[in-house]
Amino acid sequence: MILANARILPMDGPEIPRGWLRIDGDSISELGTGDPPGPAEDMGGDLIMPGFVNPHGHLPMTLFRGLAEEVDDRLFRYILPLERACVTEQVVRIGTRLALLESIRGGVTTVADMYYFEDAIAEELAASGLRGLVGQTVATFPAPDVSGVDAGFDRASALADRWTGHPTVTPGIAPHAPYSTGPEILARVAAWSEAHPGLPVQIHLAETADEIAWAAREHGRSTVEIVRDAGLLRPGLVAAHCIYLTDADREAIAASGAGVAHCPRANGKGGRPTAPITDLLARGAPVGLAADGAMSGNTLDLFSQMAPATIAQKVANGTRAALPPSEVLAMATVGGARVLGMGDRIGRLAPGYRADLIRVALDDPRQQPVWDLAATLVFSTLPSDVRATMVGGRWLMRDRQVLTLEVDAILADARQTALGFGAKIAEIDRGAP
Ligand SMILES: [Zn+2]
Repeated sequence: MILANARILPMDGPEIPRGWLRIDGDSISELGTGDPPGPAEDMGGDLIMPGFVNPHGHLPMTLFRGLAEEVDDRLFRYILPLERACVTEQVVRIGTRLALLESIRGGVTTVADMYYFEDAIAEELAASGLRGLVGQTVATFPAPDVSGVDAGFDRASALADRWTGHPTVTPGIAPHAPYSTGPEILARVAAWSEAHPGLPVQIHLAETADEIAWAAREHGRSTVEIVRDAGLLRPGLVAAHCIYLTDADREAIAASGAGVAHCPRANGKGGRPTAPITDLLARGAPVGLAADGAMSGNTLDLFSQMAPATIAQKVANGTRAALPPSEVLAMATVGGARVLGMGDRIGRLAPGYRADLIRVALDDPRQQPVWDLAATLVFSTLPSDVRATMVGGRWLMRDRQVLTLEVDAILADARQTALGFGAKIAEIDRGAP
């Protein structure tokens, strides 16, 4: 297959103003400029670029989108009780399908998930055609899918047994956060990880002020030091947020090869300080741009994340020059791929890389003229400008029509399921236990 008459942004060298790209099987075999070397599909002058890589989120939480927006303690007041009362495997499937539909339509080609019933999420992911990472949650709080930490490890092992080696789904484990696991469980995760080489470990890290206070009070260390001392701060760790970092923490992360998943919308909406992204990048840490769960960041495409990411760094650093559009675009593609340990396969368009790409229209009045392609993509392009999405050489969406999912049924199921949460929400609002 050859795609031609395209403006190509490979993220692996300069833009090709009028180019073509050849795909063999699931990978890119060749790129060129000018007329294609054979029969080709005409891209009409649209942009072809790598699909976005979203390295942190909770797919089924689309069903909680917009709930309890202004409640500071909503994790403990709403989310955990609702999850315990309402989240079944079927609910997880319905929320996941909505998230996958939104991701494909928004130009995301790889997602990372940490939640419950990950085996069901992996099945939905495989059916949708998207590439993704599924991490079974391990935590000391009661979870919808397991009773106790041991059962969480058992589920993670079963997940690894079933999905290791799958072409698009990568299994893993997800200790929820340092405060919801603790040093002993984190050390068990490190041992699990040794026994399952190459499978990523996802965690929320240095996300809240309470977490930092807990680490100092209970363990006399920083939360990053707790993770390091457990043997988990290393390549293959996907650390979401990383807001409250000491200078030593930043250096430890950069030296370790662990990846940072930056969630600017979720953090900003939570009233949290800006994560020190320009500093982490300057120190050489892999940093990706992530949507987080839809209850925190509302949308799952990365167009919605790029402008807030660069604006927050400009505000924090007091200069227009901080985190330029080209760098935030790199975070959303190449950076996310590195964070997930897939930097040799996805995130750029180059021979040998997987054909994970999107076709983006640049002809809306809001995008014209295009002086600076990166600035156009970061500040004035919307997810609805994505015309087509391809993963591993297979179109998942063409002309805005998603080919692998039943759109109407997914939307109807999601609305119906969300209505079913009403009674529990009313009970929480009444202050019932
Ligand atoms: Zn999260």
